[in-house]
Amino acid sequence: MVTTPAGEEPADLLVLATPAAPTSRLLADLAPDAADELAQIGYASVALVTFAFRADDPGVAEALEIGASGFLVPPVDGRRVKASTFSFAKWDWVRAAGDGLLVLRTSLGRFGEEATLQVPDDELVRASLADLAAATGLRAAPVDAVVQRWGGGLPQYWVGHADRVARIRSAVAAVPGLAVCGASYDGVGIPATIASAHAATAALLT
Ligand SMILES: Cc1cc2nc3c(=O)[nH]c(=O)nc-3n(C[C@H](O)[C@H](O)[C@H](O)COP(=O)(O)OP(=O)(O)OC[C@H]3O[C@@H](n4cnc5c(N)ncnc54)[C@H](O)[C@@H]3O)c2cc1C
Repeated sequence: MVTTPAGEEPADLLVLATPAAPTSRLLADLAPDAADELAQIGYASVALVTFAFRADDPGVAEALEIGASGFLVPPVDGRRVKASTFSFAKWDWVRAAGDGLLVLRTSLGRFGEEATLQVPDDELVRASLADLAAATGLRAAPVDAVVQRWGGGLPQYWVGHADRVARIRSAVAAVPGLAVCGASYDGVGIPATIASAHAATAALLT
């Protein structure tokens, strides 16, 4: 029998799908070895800026309709933008819904550089447009831009992460009826997080 830390709801089976830090706190008494390992997993904060450009504005098609779904920027380039997803090119439904607008997003914020995000939204928009211009030649003004902030949104996998995850799972498995899943373990992409949820429930149910 597993009991939640608050003690209110006893449960036979429990899957913790929370990020590493809260999972660590929740397991501090129940599985202290797992809690210690989870506390070592760092997270990067991220800001996304979503832009809409008019497809028939001068220079837009030449800069953006290049048969790519976006680009990545290595840290060595010293840019604020670390990636851009050309959503209009990646997903047909985005292009169709855009009705003449090309929607794309930039991603800013590398691990340990939270201070670069602690600026007004306008500054992130300006930095994104400057880096988009440098990468693609795009000079057109967007029709609109929206900034979304994801503080502590992306777990970072250090060298040895797989071994750490194995130790976490081993410590968690020692508590009958308990499992963990989510982006902290086997991959940060949505397919990997879903797979980790399937694996966690399968482990408990077999
Ligand atoms: C900006 C950004 C863009 C991304 N883009 C993509 C992409 O294009 N494609 C892709 O595949 N992946 C993308 N990812 C990665 C992917 O979205 C995430 O890694 C994934 O959604 C994480 O899922 P999760 O269930 O592990 O965590 P989350 O979705 O973060 O769920 C954790 C849940 O735990 C809850 N919680 C936290 N603390 C507690 C607590 N103490 N008690 C109870 N509940 C708690 C939270 O409220 C949340 O609901 C992106 C991530 C970010 C941050």
